[in-house]
Amino acid sequence: MTLATIKNLIDGARASRTAVRLGRIACTLALASFSILAVSLNGHATEKAPSLVVNAARIIGEEARTRIVMDFNEEPEFEVHYLDAPARIVVDFPAVGFSFPTKDLAPTGLFSDIRFGSMGEGSARLVLTAKKPVQVAIAETKVEDEGKVFRFVLDTEIATKQKFADLLKNQNWQALAPATTASVTPDIVQKSSRQSDFMIAVDAGHGGIDAGAKGGVTGTDEKVITLTFAKQLADRLNQIPGIKAFLTRDDDVFLALSERVTLARQQNANLFISIHADTLKQKGIRGATVYTISDRASDRMAQDLAERENLSDQIAGVAVQNAQPEVADILLDLTRRETQAFSVTLAENIVKSFEGQVGLINNPHRYAGFQVLRAHDVPSVLLELGFLSNPDDEKLLLDEKWRAKVADTLAVAVTRYRAQALANGG
Ligand SMILES: [Zn+2]
Repeated sequence: MTLATIKNLIDGARASRTAVRLGRIACTLALASFSILAVSLNGHATEKAPSLVVNAARIIGEEARTRIVMDFNEEPEFEVHYLDAPARIVVDFPAVGFSFPTKDLAPTGLFSDIRFGSMGEGSARLVLTAKKPVQVAIAETKVEDEGKVFRFVLDTEIATKQKFADLLKNQNWQALAPATTASVTPDIVQKSSRQSDFMIAVDAGHGGIDAGAKGGVTGTDEKVITLTFAKQLADRLNQIPGIKAFLTRDDDVFLALSERVTLARQQNANLFISIHADTLKQKGIRGATVYTISDRASDRMAQDLAERENLSDQIAGVAVQNAQPEVADILLDLTRRETQAFSVTLAENIVKSFEGQVGLINNPHRYAGFQVLRAHDVPSVLLELGFLSNPDDEKLLLDEKWRAKVADTLAVAVTRYRAQALANGG
């Protein structure tokens, strides 16, 4: 197959998907009723499944050439793109049910990481992170088994740096990029809130294509635990008069880290709480940790965690935008420092409320450069409820009563913080 044919093939697929692409960002936060295999913690399927389904998948290859095959039940539309730093191949599909074991697409050959999942209502994505510059040699769907199977084949091969750079440059694609949420209407925000309400953004970590960590015993995804707890916490906080809690996501959708920050700022949030339950190499470590932002990490564990959390955008194939050079603004700097002080006060209140009630790790208030905590004017904390790498923590995280107790304890901390903040002039 010549390069020209491949290009035509890919262009053809691209054209048919333009409309879907344009709608993606708006869809991310629209009344998202779709999600793949969204199973709540008590095991009930909560969403309707998409009609396009991948029933089987496999990967075969070595360092120079790798083939990925996905067996669809219907002919899929698709669109292939490239992203840099690290080199990635991104394939966008309409909503897809991925109905095969994750391990069937375990990274091998040219790829060091493979992710697939929902990118919002009506769209799904496959992201292949390559060890070296790569190119797509073939991307096509073949009809097999008398029209019962639509076999999507993606053949990839090693490319020169120059070739990969050309592919990047010549593609006609606006990647789903952070900081594009200005036009997004967050339907999930309660519209009845009064300006005087104390607004709290509750952010369920991960979502959609970014599943987060995985429980060692039950295999539960972190994104499911964070969403379940976030809903519980928001409900609990909304019982407190004068407090209005809202969710950054209320479904199994992907949100870029900057979108989470933007949503909090758009709603004039007084507080931002990001919920997580990650894994650690040290399986013995358990208990909750509260993180605040800092350029310098408090310790190695905090630094490693922040680095992993900050990979979320990359996992989903969000193009890394060159950071805007920050204007030296003394007012901005003052705000930032003041906000940081409020964040620390909140973290200390949470630790104090948890003591004797909810298990904490040693030195439970830590800090590192978490991207999701970078709103300069919204006091923000990231709460690791516990660690999915620890079997006892995993059990608690899946226990509704335990989660309710944590939500109660957080409500106490937030109430106390609010009183202090109001006493200090808001
Ligand atoms: Zn996490």
